Amino acid sequence: MSRIKSLFQFKCPKCESGNVFSEKKYLSFGKMNSNSNLCNHKFEMEPGFFFGAMYVSYGLTMAIAGALFVLSQLLFEDISISFILGLIALSFILFAPINYKVSRMVWMYLFTQKTV
Ligand SMILES: [Zn+2]
Repeated sequence: MSRIKSLFQFKCPKCESGNVFSEKKYLSFGKMNSNSNLCNHKFEMEPGFFFGAMYVSYGLTMAIAGALFVLSQLLFEDISISFILGLIALSFILFAPINYKVSRMVWMYLFTQKTV
């Protein structure tokens, strides 16, 4: 299984088989497990480890906002800036659960080597 694929399936960064979140759904926050249920890898490697995921989250959010802005400019000729800003604000709420999960996953995968 490729590493990118297991990242988006929310699998443990060490064994790529254990589940990181109790729920696999993209649209719910769910509860994050503290350890991998298969290899017992501790996800929060040190206190405050996931503060760094905030940077990934910010990048993802800005990428989505930028994409929405460009798309709305391309698809609609006369669209007000306040409508676009409202659309972007709505996307922040809609993408919050997936953004939360993906940013933590990316942060863990950056700092954990796979061991077989
Ligand atoms: Zn594991």
